Amino acid sequence: MSCCDKPGLMPVEAALARLLAQAEASAIVECERVNLSDAAGRVLAEPLLAPLDLPPWDNSAMDGYALRLADWNGEPLVVSQRIQAGSAPVPLQSGTCARIFTGAPLPAGADTVEMQENAVLSEDGRVAFCEPLKLGQNVRAQGQETRIGDSVLPAGTRLGPIELGLAASLGCAELTVRRRPRVAVLSTGDELIEPGQPLGPGQIYNSNRRLLIAWLQRLGCEVVDGGILLDDLELTRAALGALRDVDLILSTGGVSVGEADFLGMALREEGEQALWKLAIKPGKPLTCGQFRGVPVIGLPGNPASTLVTFGLLARPYLLRRLGVQRVEPLGFPMPAGFTWNKPGKRREYLRARLENGRVVPYPNQSSGVLRSAAWAEGFAEVLENTTLSVGDSLRFIPLSEILG
Ligand code: AMP
Ligand code: MG
Repeated sequence: MSCCDKPGLMPVEAALARLLAQAEASAIVECERVNLSDAAGRVLAEPLLAPLDLPPWDNSAMDGYALRLADWNGEPLVVSQRIQAGSAPVPLQSGTCARIFTGAPLPAGADTVEMQENAVLSEDGRVAFCEPLKLGQNVRAQGQETRIGDSVLPAGTRLGPIELGLAASLGCAELTVRRRPRVAVLSTGDELIEPGQPLGPGQIYNSNRRLLIAWLQRLGCEVVDGGILLDDLELTRAALGALRDVDLILSTGGVSVGEADFLGMALREEGEQALWKLAIKPGKPLTCGQFRGVPVIGLPGNPASTLVTFGLLARPYLLRRLGVQRVEPLGFPMPAGFTWNKPGKRREYLRARLENGRVVPYPNQSSGVLRSAAWAEGFAEVLENTTLSVGDSLRFIPLSEILG
């Protein structure tokens, strides 16, 4: 794969690899037991081992009749018991069959189920089977899904609806998860005000704060809302100093080259700062450091840049701190529905949609335009030094892979 050849620009993979290494070095390892009802979005701290077989006993996959195939010589069988789901059958009387319903336990001695559609009940109460029978048909065997002791979910699994349903199917009422990361969100910029206030001269509304707080909450973080931080060294020092008991300080803005770099100054005085120039667009400048031992990530302030750099770099970093292994979004090769004839030094993440099976970018890709992402269904990745013609393949990363 080609990468940037302009000295000083760090490829996206290199930045991600560094962030993930830092995440592993500062993993959040404390755990807690939570009820399943509180476990959505959390990360499993230990493998989930099956405490029982699933299904726990042989049962019927159909409404029909259960029999021992060896007892059947082609003649109709007497129905000797009726087994509903939730009931406990008696052993099957030899030479008979049992009326049985989906999910009901097979009686001891039965090994085959015929569905009711292929059975004819005669007036004398016996049942004839019209089709050939196969041993074990329509039986869900004990342990066919899971055996007791199987590791059904590895440590580091993010718990969503499927995982919670699976844990419930195994009778687990509580799970051991990593504690929630505490993440402070700071929006830097003298020009920012919050929605609900009238817009004064030169002011804009703070979009990144809401964007990041909602996103972090989806990621299972406990958010410390640091509000707006004015562009001032003293205030920056004080704001950072007040955030002692957090796992990460996430700031936006104030990392552009040439700007009075108050975040960087404060970090250099009482911590560490690395200012990365990334081969990413939108994005590019990103601060990575620590203040009095607390990790700090400073994202670029333009909202689309915040979106892309949080989604592709800070989100994987946070998830890896919780022990999640697959932290990168899935992407799929899709044909371009556009031409690209300006090969760039930076990898571009166009906010794009799929239309008629092709990737179509939003017309305005400015890094200040968040509306592009609201319109989009994903990021279209245009690699460095690349041109594209309509129909050429490129990677499409659905937003659903990033936002959760
Ligand atoms: P900066 O990196 O501080 O120069 O910010 C780059 C651009 O992003 C400027 O146009 C800022 O006004 C804008 N910006 C910074 N922070 C925010 C924010 N929280 N919400 C909306 N726009 C922002
Ligand atoms: Mg600023």
